[in-house]
Formats: sequence, structure tokens, C-alpha cells
Amino acid sequence: MKRKGILIVVSGFSGAGKGTLMKQLVHSYDNYALSVSMTTRNPRPGETEGKEYFFVSRQEFEEQIKKGGLVEYASYCDHYYGTPREYVEKQLEKGKDVILEIEIQGALKIKKQFPTALLMFVMPPSAEELKKRLEGRGTETPEVIAKRLRRAAEEAEGIENYDFIVINDRLDECVEEMHKLILAAHETPERNEDFIREMRKELEAFIQ
Ligand code: ADP
Ligand code: 5GP
Repeated sequence: MKRKGILIVVSGFSGAGKGTLMKQLVHSYDNYALSVSMTTRNPRPGETEGKEYFFVSRQEFEEQIKKGGLVEYASYCDHYYGTPREYVEKQLEKGKDVILEIEIQGALKIKKQFPTALLMFVMPPSAEELKKRLEGRGTETPEVIAKRLRRAAEEAEGIENYDFIVINDRLDECVEEMHKLILAAHETPERNEDFIREMRKELEAFIQ
């Protein structure tokens, strides 16, 4: 039976290392497809159009919402972020596991639409380390960093909605841990309904 792709939602506080982890995961294994979101925030130095994000104006973003072009979208620290629908649907059909690196409101919307989506929450080893990483990245002003840390405190309230937490202490170990958890998630009954149904049908045929 053809392997079915699943949706993998990866959330976590800003600066926890989600982007870094996902780049390495996709680089290390070929069963993953990383969805590129659309956003109204400005590119950071080094970010390029279509690689980290599709950078659009508020007007363009709102047009996509109206057209139904986004699987989900949310507002985060004064900007819109959303997941383009077409890429996700095509990659799932191909049997790829599609990774959505999105914040918590979007994660909950995905779980409603796709009950077999796997929700993972990336944590730093400590809050102090989170602050260090955000400051060390050097891409945001102190005001924006403060806003993101306040947002982290809010997001921490929603962690229980996730299937797993993963701690990003040593990068390589965390990537391996995530890959193992995803492989294990593929083996749950709710993600194998077609196979189970088929098996039952074949067993029934023995009885008749
Ligand atoms: P996020 O996508 O969650 O906002 P990033 O991937 O941009 O976070 O990582 C934030 C900063 O922390 C970056 O400068 C990155 O190089 C660094 N970083 C990521 N993972 C680790 C790790 N395991 N140990 C130390 N620094 C890390
Ligand atoms: P950043 O500005 O640091 O790249 O992202 C800010 C937050 O937006 C992060 O928590 C990131 O996971 C989230 N995000 C990125 N893309 C999307 C998206 O398509 N939908 C939602 N809901 N959140 C997103």
C-alpha cells in the first residue's frame, strides 16, 4: 500500500531553533517537504523570497485569504503569516511528510482540519538560553525581542495541545529525536485506517 504523507506541525517560541532544526531535518532525510509560508513581515538579512517565506503586502495577503489560497493563517506580533494550500496538498498526495513551521493559533486550526496531523513543540533547554539565542541571532531590535519574549510566555500556556515536546539543546540530537518521533507516529492506528480496513476485508473473505 502506498505510503501516505502526514502533516507535521512544528511550533515553538521565537528563537527556540525551529528554522535551524527544520533545515537540517529536510537536508538529512528525503521524505520531508517543508512548506514555505506567506508573510507580511519584512525579510531579515539573508532571507530570500520563496526560500524562507513569500514576502507579500497586506493587500496581497488579504486577497489570498479571500481566494481560499491558505490552509490556515494567523496574526503574530503585528504581521500576517499563512500556509499556501496548493503546495501542501500536492506534497501530501506524493506521499511526503509535509512540515509546517507555524505558531500555535495556526497549529490548532490545522489539527481541526487534519485530525491526524502530528503536533510538535520545540523548547529551548531554558528560558535564559532562549533569550540568548534571540539576542545572538541579531535580527531583531530589542523592542521586537521583548515583544517576542512576551509572546513566548503566552504561547507556553498552550503547550498541552501538542503531541510531543522536543528540547533543542544539541541540534543534531534534536533532529534525530524529531525524525524518530515522526517515524513512530506513522505507525499509529489512526494514521493507518486504509491499511487496517483492507486487512479486515481480506480476513472477512477467509470466513465466507
Ligand atoms: P526560530 O526559527 O525558532 O525562531 P532559529 O532557528 O532562527 O529559531 O534559531 C535562533 C538562533 O539560535 C539562531 O541564531 C540559531 O543559530 C541558534 N540555534 C538554533 N539551535 C541551536 C542550538 N541547538 N544550540 C545553540 N544555538 C542554536
Ligand atoms: P518569524 O517572524 O520568526 O519567521 O515567525 C514568527 C512566528 O510565525 C513563528 O512562530 C513561526 O512559526 C510563525 N509562522 C511562520 N509561518 C507561519 C504560517 O504560515 N502560519 C502561522 N500560523 N504561523 C506561521
